[in-house]
Amino acid sequence: MMSISGILLQIRFFIIIFNNIEINGPSENNVRYQQLLNNFKAIKASDEYYGKNSDYISRKFNTEYEISLQETQRLFNELLSSPQVKEVAKLISQRLGRKLQPFDIWYDGFKSRSLISSDELDRITKTKYPNKAAFTNDLPNILIKMGFTKELAKFICDHVTLDASVGAGHAWESMMKSDNARLRTRIENDGMYYKGYNIGVHEFGHNVEQTISLHYVPNYFLRGVPNTAFTEALAFTFQSRDLELLGVSNPDEYSKYMNTLDIFWGCYEIMGVSMVDMKVWQWMYQHPDATAEQLKNAVISIAKEVWNQYFEPVFNSKDQTILAVYSHMIDAPLYLSAYPIGHLIDFQLESYLEGKNIGTEVERIFKIGRVTPSQWMKLAIGNDLSALPLLNSTTVAVEKIKEFDKQNKKSPKNK
Ligand SMILES: [Zn+2]
Repeated sequence: MMSISGILLQIRFFIIIFNNIEINGPSENNVRYQQLLNNFKAIKASDEYYGKNSDYISRKFNTEYEISLQETQRLFNELLSSPQVKEVAKLISQRLGRKLQPFDIWYDGFKSRSLISSDELDRITKTKYPNKAAFTNDLPNILIKMGFTKELAKFICDHVTLDASVGAGHAWESMMKSDNARLRTRIENDGMYYKGYNIGVHEFGHNVEQTISLHYVPNYFLRGVPNTAFTEALAFTFQSRDLELLGVSNPDEYSKYMNTLDIFWGCYEIMGVSMVDMKVWQWMYQHPDATAEQLKNAVISIAKEVWNQYFEPVFNSKDQTILAVYSHMIDAPLYLSAYPIGHLIDFQLESYLEGKNIGTEVERIFKIGRVTPSQWMKLAIGNDLSALPLLNSTTVAVEKIKEFDKQNKKSPKNK
């Protein structure tokens, strides 16, 4: 998804790592902030050419995400200040056997790790899919296993062309009904490795969305989905079932609860970072003539302000600047919020699909087309976009994982 790079180098600061070795991070002056400022100035110069939504913040939120800045902040605030944060933090601290440190916003001990070795997974996928034709021929079966009708499975697969790419995976939609969507994933000369298969299943999820929403949305101009988060939601729905589709594992309760906590903690972190991003853009519009040095000071103080509001009560340490760390904030203006919005949509969709026939539901839901996110959610699952389902499931998951941890001392303690 995103890379955590570009540690805050503007101020001389120290990272204290586990064995208490202090590393000195030298300053790179204001290069980072000059870049951000350059982006802001370039974008702002185009403002006058827009009638409505004449600043970038409203263009991004009102036009692109179709969820206003206020609504986005309200959604994030709901999760960030929820009592569930403290419950999950306590559980993490117990699992780690120490007090939480600021970098534990990236705790990854809730990720379910497969019990099957990667060599064994490679062996299984290489045997099953020795070449491109083998994977292509199996695509309809993948859909049928997920509950799609034979007819729809055939229709979709007739409209998807597999390319054995040399790079990472990708799904390229077709803009016209007479053309096919492309599924790109890596297939080596000696067959498909697990990684290529895992990505292939994800990309195939996109192709399914692309094909249904091109061919079955009645109005061509409403084809597609509200924004990229919605197609990612279906791609993840597919990808998370990859081992089940291979017949090597079944969904289990433990992984389900772990996954809920993983999504929750990931949202807590990325929503904090997104809050900083949004506030920085508001500050830049209020101070259009700021220098890189002034911008740096503003970003650091906004990061502390967001930390003190949402993280300090949980981590018990004040004035941390870690939330300003993302390089993503520098090179992709106001993109960060798309991630947690995507996670919320994905979670609501997954919860809705639980126990239902995926094929029937996906067929119905992706025929809706490109209406607003809020309208799409109501038509798809009967509820608006909300953090509540994730919050409620988190409360249940905390209790369940506590019990699992207690009962089974061998359960992964996290590294
Ligand atoms: Zn994707």
